[in-house]
Amino acid sequence: MSTDETPAVNVFEVAQEQLRRAADKMDLDDRLRKILSQPKNEMIIHFPVRMDSGEYELFKGYRIQHNNIMGPFKGGMRYHHDVHLDEVKALAAWMTWKCSLMEIPFGGAKGGIKFTPREVSRKELERITRRFTHALGNNIGPDYDIPAPDMGSDSQTMVWMMDTYMNRGHDLNKNALRGVVTGKSITSGGSPGRDKATGQGLVYVVQQWAQETGFSLDGATFALQGFGKVGAAAARILSRLGASLIAVQDHTGSLHNSEGLHPKRLSEYVKRNRGVAGYPGGEPIDRSTFFSTPVDLFIPAALELQITAETAPMMDCKVVVEGANGPTDLDGERILAEKGVTFLPDILANAGGVTVSYFEWLQNRRAETWRVEDVDERLRVMMTRAYQTMRRLAREHDTDNRTAAYIHALSRIQSVYRERGIFP
Ligand code: NAD
Repeated sequence: MSTDETPAVNVFEVAQEQLRRAADKMDLDDRLRKILSQPKNEMIIHFPVRMDSGEYELFKGYRIQHNNIMGPFKGGMRYHHDVHLDEVKALAAWMTWKCSLMEIPFGGAKGGIKFTPREVSRKELERITRRFTHALGNNIGPDYDIPAPDMGSDSQTMVWMMDTYMNRGHDLNKNALRGVVTGKSITSGGSPGRDKATGQGLVYVVQQWAQETGFSLDGATFALQGFGKVGAAAARILSRLGASLIAVQDHTGSLHNSEGLHPKRLSEYVKRNRGVAGYPGGEPIDRSTFFSTPVDLFIPAALELQITAETAPMMDCKVVVEGANGPTDLDGERILAEKGVTFLPDILANAGGVTVSYFEWLQNRRAETWRVEDVDERLRVMMTRAYQTMRRLAREHDTDNRTAAYIHALSRIQSVYRERGIFP
């Protein structure tokens, strides 16, 4: 199977099974199993956009709001041709668990538009973004539902969303209203450190794991699937700690270099060429060679359902660090666990993005700009705390890291439901 084909496994079913496992382990209340098994709100919007040719095209956008008992709905906007309802539902649920695990006052949501952003012009991209934001109307807002970048969207996308939202004639609090989205450019109200936050948070988690297991990152090797916002930042930071990126894959191809690929040069190349294919600093390899390259760390940072019954048997690594959301299906996880591979699960490993999004939202509310050193330090403290909580629960419940991370997230949500009750 090429990674571009729609996988046979349903990603929402994977998310539901992960929830079921943790719920069984911790004896979650029955009513909560029901409430959390489906999102609160599902929006699907078809909207017309004038293309540069003068013709109109109809686009399909999604916004799924999974749960907001812990605070405003929060989650990214994905621009990708494979975006579909069950995918966005799974991604929205993972946001609920992630925010609760990290103890930040947000719920979970996710959205997306089904199209390929690199196939439209910048003007078309702007019109698609603004038209969808307008169509969402009051279903987003700084105290209600706060989008952020995800695959295929970026800080410019967020600034267009913010500007469209603010032009609808709301009240006059221009600073706080900017918190309708996070992941903005710094000049338009973004946070220092947000662009690298997911990669930085991932590395903080890896450092905790290395410390706990007595593993040295200096001289370690890693493979990376996805060299976008998350993957490229993680690669740069890991290489500063002495680890070598020896295999990389994106939508254009896969590369290998046993001496290590240079993340900064590769980033510059990818910016110019929109993919890793053709980069002169590495040998082109095929997909199965990429998955079977022996490494210490395997970091999926692209799409979901990449580590499967097909790819897991080929893999040879100590730890899988899930930069992507849902990169591992149930078979993939079982096969690697049997080989003794550790998982640092997505809801922890990639939580740096939403954590710094929370800092950005706070800065907008207070009309402040924090120093990047302070952002990084606060992020480090929160990632470390979440890692240690996960490991303590894994030991207490004699379970794997993913289930332990879910147990912490779900316990906090359960406490709030028990205290508040269900109206009426
Ligand atoms: P991005 O659009 O910046 O980069 C995506 C990367 O994936 C690109 O390198 C692309 O070439 C690659 N890719 C796409 N299709 C592929 C395929 N079929 N095979 C191999 N590679 C492929 O996206 P991103 O923001 O870096 O997000 C990557 C993952 O991280 C997603 O799962 C996203 O949900 C998750 N994530 C992102 C953030 C964030 O802050 N951006 C936060 C948490 C989680």
